[in-house]
Amino acid sequence: MLKLIDIKKVYKTETLEQIALHNVSISFRKNEFVSILGPSGSGKTTLLNIIGGLDQYTSGDLIINGASSKSFKSEDWDAYRNNSVGFIFQSYNLISHLSIRDNVEMGMKLSGISTSERRKKAEDALIKVGLKDHIEKRPNQLSGGQMQRVAIARAIANDPEIILADEPTGALDTETSIQVMEIIKELAKEKLVIMVTHNPELAEEYSDRIVRFKDGQLIEDTNPVLDSSITSDYKLKHTSMSFFTALKSSGKNVLSKKWRTALTSFASSVGIIGVALVLSLSNGFSNQIDDFQTEMLSSLPITVSDGPSTSIIPSPPTGENGNTLDEFPTTKKMYVNAPSEDETTKTHTNVLTDEYVDYVYKLDSELVSSYSLSRSVELPVLKLVDGKATKLNTTNLPLTTYPSEDTTNSTTYLEENYDLLAGDFPKSESELLLVVDSYNQLDVQAANELGLTDDVIKLSSLIGKEFKLLSNDQYYVKNGDTFRVNGNPSDLSTLYNDKNSQTLNISGVIRIKEDAQVKALSTGLLYSDALNEHFIAEAQQSEIVLAQEKADYNVLTGEALGEETSPSTQLPEMDPTAMTSGDFTKPLTKDATLAKLGAISTPVSISIYPTTFEAKDSILDYLDAWNDDKAEDEAIEYTDMAEVMSSSLNTVIDTISYVLIAFASISLIVSMIMIGIIIYVSVLERTKEIGVLRALGARKKDITRLFNAETFIIGATSGILGIGITYLLSVPINIIIENLTDFSNIASLNPVHGIALIVLSIVLTMLGGLLPAKMAAKKDPVVALRNE
Ligand code: ADP
Ligand code: MG
Repeated sequence: MLKLIDIKKVYKTETLEQIALHNVSISFRKNEFVSILGPSGSGKTTLLNIIGGLDQYTSGDLIINGASSKSFKSEDWDAYRNNSVGFIFQSYNLISHLSIRDNVEMGMKLSGISTSERRKKAEDALIKVGLKDHIEKRPNQLSGGQMQRVAIARAIANDPEIILADEPTGALDTETSIQVMEIIKELAKEKLVIMVTHNPELAEEYSDRIVRFKDGQLIEDTNPVLDSSITSDYKLKHTSMSFFTALKSSGKNVLSKKWRTALTSFASSVGIIGVALVLSLSNGFSNQIDDFQTEMLSSLPITVSDGPSTSIIPSPPTGENGNTLDEFPTTKKMYVNAPSEDETTKTHTNVLTDEYVDYVYKLDSELVSSYSLSRSVELPVLKLVDGKATKLNTTNLPLTTYPSEDTTNSTTYLEENYDLLAGDFPKSESELLLVVDSYNQLDVQAANELGLTDDVIKLSSLIGKEFKLLSNDQYYVKNGDTFRVNGNPSDLSTLYNDKNSQTLNISGVIRIKEDAQVKALSTGLLYSDALNEHFIAEAQQSEIVLAQEKADYNVLTGEALGEETSPSTQLPEMDPTAMTSGDFTKPLTKDATLAKLGAISTPVSISIYPTTFEAKDSILDYLDAWNDDKAEDEAIEYTDMAEVMSSSLNTVIDTISYVLIAFASISLIVSMIMIGIIIYVSVLERTKEIGVLRALGARKKDITRLFNAETFIIGATSGILGIGITYLLSVPINIIIENLTDFSNIASLNPVHGIALIVLSIVLTMLGGLLPAKMAAKKDPVVALRNE
């Protein structure tokens, strides 16, 4: 059944060619026990390896069951070894991290025999060699003789036709040698057994045929085959190790080195932990920023103001021939900078009309939390200090309207963004609020306006403090061609006590909330816009307003009115705060004078407070829609404060994250290299095992797969470990951050990122282990098995 024709084996080394076999021709019968004798180095092992397909002959032919093996590819040899050959080695070559059962089953796993059949065959083989009671033990729990019997069981389990034994008793004492020989002799009854031995007595006693070798040549054959003309077809069943088998085997190997695996996984998880923490922190921060955007930035209003505004359109300076200039140029030239004003700045004048204000008020109430109107009207409000009633000086104590929802007196915006320190939010239009700063402070001038002289004042004592609002007709009386205050300006008690004057009182003291990032209102008194509107309605019919409308001079001062200048040239003077402060450097225009007296109801600016960050976009769309059918100079432009702030914040977080991830990635690369080294060491350690597996018929691919399975396990372990540790670390990190900054849940790893990182860890470690795994597959099984 086996026929060697002129087999020649030459080992080529760097320095010389070693001829291990010299044109050996020999045939073997289907059932016989052949012993090969010969001195060391005579080529016996080489012959066995060639017969077993573990090593390839240089020339000649090996006829297997009548078929030439000349055209065998590496996978055919693998299948041949797996299907037809069982090897028994002097040094047993058991895989130490697998149980006896798994060792015996390994060859059958490669040929894809079902689990139950595999178990049965393995048990039968172990019973045959008398090791029934040791099935679950590990190789290092057995004696030498027992280990050799396991090796025999492994060789016969898959029922091969050929058993090749290389000095099977070489390491055993006489007694156990005899036991092993008995078993081998038993096998020879139905198989071809070829055994190399140094022991001529054993050979004489047990074998049917003795073949002697010397210097790579056959010198004696006691029972040569004379007729060998049998021909038949020889079919090979190809082998393959499933990834699952590889995973299980590697899993057991990894488990047998628990501490090394644990440390390796931990070390390589550090990179994953780094990246995961950065991701979780940046995730938490961007969540925080989203919250910040919706909560804080949405409290910034969109403001539309009457009058001109200048915006600078950044355009790079131009030099020769109109080319744009580079910054920090290397040229030895100087350029004269004469910017054309039209190009770089744009002045636009908004003209707020009642129509526009109505349009703004028609915004969906879901989008707007409140409106704040600003008018130039100066309310004649009297205060009573030390028994003397005087006009409230709004330069010292600003008197402005608070943002309110539509025309109702709702104070939602204030309630959301301000803490009520004392009293209540206003319930009627005659109730005022006092705003203090974040230190609970009020300017000394403002305090004096309120008649407060102490340095420290109880908040509760401020509640209920009264003021009187007069009508224009009460406050101003005609005095020839002009008007004057109705009474002695330093004591207006009569007016103060007039039953027609409207009583106002402070209903509450408020302060900006601690977590609010935007301080929209300055300190001072706040009143409702409804009060304003009522005053304006009445003022429009007042004597002084009617007189002012007709007069071409200021009816209060008798001075000339300011020029109504063209909008493009009047710039900073139109600041609305300057209008109400009463501190003018230029004479007021007629319109401004009328507005101050309350004759004009159109506000000078309107601020819209969006409910959410998204609502803001809808509001902006709505405001843009107004301009759609308008000429450019009729368009109304707005300022959006929030936009400027938010975009820069996100960029900062993104940049920081990228930098940190780049640093953490370095540790990923380091761990990848480390895994490569670990796998390389593992390959070195498992060289024997690689040889055994190849002898059992494992393909090169299967060996690669085995080590890939190992890196897969390490990669997955370190990935899962890393993510687990990250989640654990998030707890103390969040506690620390919350203590330091008030931000809660900053470290919150997105589960999707977690899974992606585990996959990344697997991919990277497998990449790191790929090279050593390929190296393992390339190992010559003969060399691997010779390795001690
Ligand atoms: P035996 O088993 O009879 O002791 P071997 O078959 O192992 O002898 O070796 C036969 C000859 O081939 C020896 O001279 C040995 O040095 C040489 N040899 C075996 N393997 C190699 C190899 N991989 N490279 C070079 N020479 C080898
Ligand atoms: Mg040998």
